[in-house]
Amino acid sequence: MSNDPPKVGFVSLGCPKALVDSERILTQLRVEGYVVSPSYDAADLVIVNTCGFIDSAVEESLEAIGEAVTENGRVIVTGCLGAKSQVIKQAYPQVLAVTGPQELAEVMEAVHRHLPRPHDPFLDLVPPQGIKLTPRHYAYLKISEGCNHRCSFCIIPSMRGRLVSRPVGLVMQEAESLVRAGVKELLVISQDTSAYGIDVKYRTGFWQGRPLRTRMGDLAGALGGLGVWVRLHYVYPYPHVDETIPLMQEGKILPYLDVPFQHASARILKAMKRPADSEDNLARIRAWRQICPSLTLRSTFIVGFPGETEDDFAMLLDFVSEAQLDRVGCFTYSAVDGASANSLPDPVAEEVKQERYARLMALQAGISAAKLKAKIGCTMTVLVDEIAADGTAIARSAADAPDVDGVVTVRGNRKLSAGEFVRVRITGAGEHDLWADTL
Ligand code: SF4
Repeated sequence: MSNDPPKVGFVSLGCPKALVDSERILTQLRVEGYVVSPSYDAADLVIVNTCGFIDSAVEESLEAIGEAVTENGRVIVTGCLGAKSQVIKQAYPQVLAVTGPQELAEVMEAVHRHLPRPHDPFLDLVPPQGIKLTPRHYAYLKISEGCNHRCSFCIIPSMRGRLVSRPVGLVMQEAESLVRAGVKELLVISQDTSAYGIDVKYRTGFWQGRPLRTRMGDLAGALGGLGVWVRLHYVYPYPHVDETIPLMQEGKILPYLDVPFQHASARILKAMKRPADSEDNLARIRAWRQICPSLTLRSTFIVGFPGETEDDFAMLLDFVSEAQLDRVGCFTYSAVDGASANSLPDPVAEEVKQERYARLMALQAGISAAKLKAKIGCTMTVLVDEIAADGTAIARSAADAPDVDGVVTVRGNRKLSAGEFVRVRITGAGEHDLWADTL
């Protein structure tokens, strides 16, 4: 038998939550002495971590599985689409094993079955923070799994189960080891960050020998003491979110909230079964901005949900122009296999969806552009993500989350490197991005 360590290829699809699952699997593989292979050819088997959120993600996942089957032949499938194993097995009966999301133990068991673990694990080769797929200077910190809501367009709860909060002490330990390993920005994620701790009745845990509640505000405060950027994603506008705003104003965590409002018409929000659908979101936004004027708000909306009338859509446009959000993502509604919204009456015609999408995005483009233009001449700190071929630095400000928001392109006479914080003056602005010179 060869002494070469067994090699596993890895394909990671889907959202940041799936990415965190991928990181856990990769970490465990390395802990056990497997080598991660960069090519299908060299791999002894391939793991495909899939996404099954919307139909296009299902297609992409099936294509990725098909490619791995053709190129390598020995394939284990995990992730959200793995929850629907019959779909995979029907398309690719030769797949070795299928497991659902967050099933690290099951994935590893399948790997062991088809590719026995090497005799002597290279434990000391694994950095204590695990293997990360994001650039070294930022990392996603997953604080819980699953979701207790039942939004009618979403099948995540049926795939990922009810909310399970990770123990606050463990979350803090992971955050600390990430910071020790050089991470400069922690992106807090979950399906519903504001619900953190509800399942354990906000149990008091321990970190560094001190009590710490399993609660979003308490966790944000503790993370804010680590001396790096902390950014909150997927926060619903519940009253207790208000507690985090003073932390932003004090500079402990980034003045940034990613709040997926999805709509503004009470009727549509009710049909969507959205959490916090009865809150007065405009009043809440106003109150937040009064406490922290520099707050950046990001949100996503769905247009063309079944039953959405022109009046409902007009309410959404009014909300968008009133709320003056900094960043907006918009999707046209599409049915997801298994979602309860599929049985709702009054579907909106595709061309109406597209037209509403275009109107909303045009309105928001003007708002975003004006907000960015107002920053010209301001000084701010940015975090460098990469250095472009022409030597300019591609960076992000407190207002920009990686991949979803804009960037700040920085020129300067000093050599910059990825992961560095730099003070800059803003010199130009577009619809999404900013340009700046180093100070
Ligand atoms: S809050 Fe709604 S959209 Fe988000 S994961 Fe839960 S059910 Fe899905």
